[in-house]
Amino acid sequence: MASPRDGLEAVETKDSAGRRGSSGVEVVFPSDPDVPAPLCPHGPTLLFVKVSQGKEETRRFYACSACRDRKDCNFFQWEDEKLSEARLAAREAYNRRCQPPLSQRQCVERYLKLIELPLTQRKFCQRCQQLLLPDEWERHHEHQVMGDISITQLRRPSQLLYPLENKKANAQYLFADRSCQFLVDLLSTLGFRRVLCVGTPRLHELIMLTASGDKKSNIKSLLLDIDFRYSQFYMEDSFCHYNMFNHHFFDGKAALEVCRTFLQEDEGEGVIMVADPPFGGLVEPLAVTFKKLIAMWKEGQSQDDSHKELPIFWIFPYFFESRICQFFPSFCMLDYQVDYDNHALYKHGKTGRKQSPVRIFTNIPPKKIILPTEEGYRFCPLCQRYVSLENQHCEHCNSCTSKDGRKWNHCFLCKKCVKPSWIHCSICSHCALPGHSCEGSKDGCFICGELGHKRSTCPNISTSKRANKAVRKQKQRKSNKMKMETTKGQSMNHTSVTRKKKRRKRVHQYLCS
Ligand code: SAH
Ligand code: ZN
Ligand code: ZN
Ligand code: ZN
Ligand code: ZN
Repeated sequence: MASPRDGLEAVETKDSAGRRGSSGVEVVFPSDPDVPAPLCPHGPTLLFVKVSQGKEETRRFYACSACRDRKDCNFFQWEDEKLSEARLAAREAYNRRCQPPLSQRQCVERYLKLIELPLTQRKFCQRCQQLLLPDEWERHHEHQVMGDISITQLRRPSQLLYPLENKKANAQYLFADRSCQFLVDLLSTLGFRRVLCVGTPRLHELIMLTASGDKKSNIKSLLLDIDFRYSQFYMEDSFCHYNMFNHHFFDGKAALEVCRTFLQEDEGEGVIMVADPPFGGLVEPLAVTFKKLIAMWKEGQSQDDSHKELPIFWIFPYFFESRICQFFPSFCMLDYQVDYDNHALYKHGKTGRKQSPVRIFTNIPPKKIILPTEEGYRFCPLCQRYVSLENQHCEHCNSCTSKDGRKWNHCFLCKKCVKPSWIHCSICSHCALPGHSCEGSKDGCFICGELGHKRSTCPNISTSKRANKAVRKQKQRKSNKMKMETTKGQSMNHTSVTRKKKRRKRVHQYLCS
């Protein structure tokens, strides 16, 4: 069963400390950039190499950029493999069959028809996750169908659709209202007039709602997301079916032009990109994609603006800081903890639950970003940024050093601040969790990259999560059977979505499965 694809999801997480672990799969860039990567239903594939014991195997292979799990997209091809004409043709036909049944234009037409109907005739099939026109009711009569879909509901698709959760890399974690509202207020305070939402459907929706309710704050938003279900609710200029791991627009050139026009409007003035990629995803391909979007924005600049950067919010866990800053040296990490609705474990600290590890990485000067004092954030005049309540300024490091929201302690031997749970180990000659195993700690943890523990004992995963793991695995097997839409691109056709409520309640995971 073991294939070079196994372990794909672990690829970059272990790398967060900028170190290469002992085994896993890493993304590499082709030696000859003129050789186009083969295509899977999700656009150009990426080139990977399997790494074991710190060494790269020599044979590299192409696999899907979007799906970490073979069950969602099983594309596999050795780099040096030659395919017969017949196999290439079969693959092409397969890729075509996997595309969404409707174009964005057709979706728009359906939407316009639907809103013309009286309330009682506006229906939504929960099983197919699809808005229904009257002549389609019959086909769904055995499904669970919601009636009386109001305009308000149509404007909040992230509440009508259930979050996708069957795929490791594409699981949807929707912002909690508190965090979403904070972001919208912040964007408007900072004076942005356009927001390119990459993988942020709920933020997109709240921006659109705010704009329609208040003529003064007329921020425009364009959503780029792989979740095709959203195409039912938006016009062509506000949604593009998109893969952020390879910068692929499923609707081709027309969609790419929508994005370009959006970025280049007003010579690129007043636009920001906000991305909240799946955390199981790879940092490097994301960075490559973001650089392409930045380049697209730059093309629209007049010469004298050439030093400017496209403002970006990249929302990601704090332990990816060094990795992200490697690609974007001008970024800094804010202390603000981003909360999610459907993530039971990472809600705001004040509720007594575990604090969220998710932060905002940005190239906007942090002093301009005022964090809510009512949630305990305060301004540190020395660091010139807002920090969380317990993040104390260390006079030795000359900075507010906490990354996780807890008070960190300065270690004079390590000459830096460390997590409160750590002690200095004279054998390893650095700080680590008490009870760590001193030998074999060279590889670091797959989840947070730190030395001294392994993935299974990572402090970044709570105990309850670990306890749930066995249960979850079992359920995962079941839900994997219920193959879903975005990978196949057939969101509006799929048929097997039962036990939705139970699954929603389930404890989700960001990184480890
Ligand atoms: N917090 C955000 C949602 C983040 S979840 C919000 O509330 O708006 C991650 C999002 O990225 C999901 O919407 C998911 O559909 C999308 N996504 C996952 N894989 C993707 C890919 N390869 N390309 C583009 N979008 C992707
Ligand atoms: Zn694929
Ligand atoms: Zn210190
Ligand atoms: Zn120490
Ligand atoms: Zn030790």
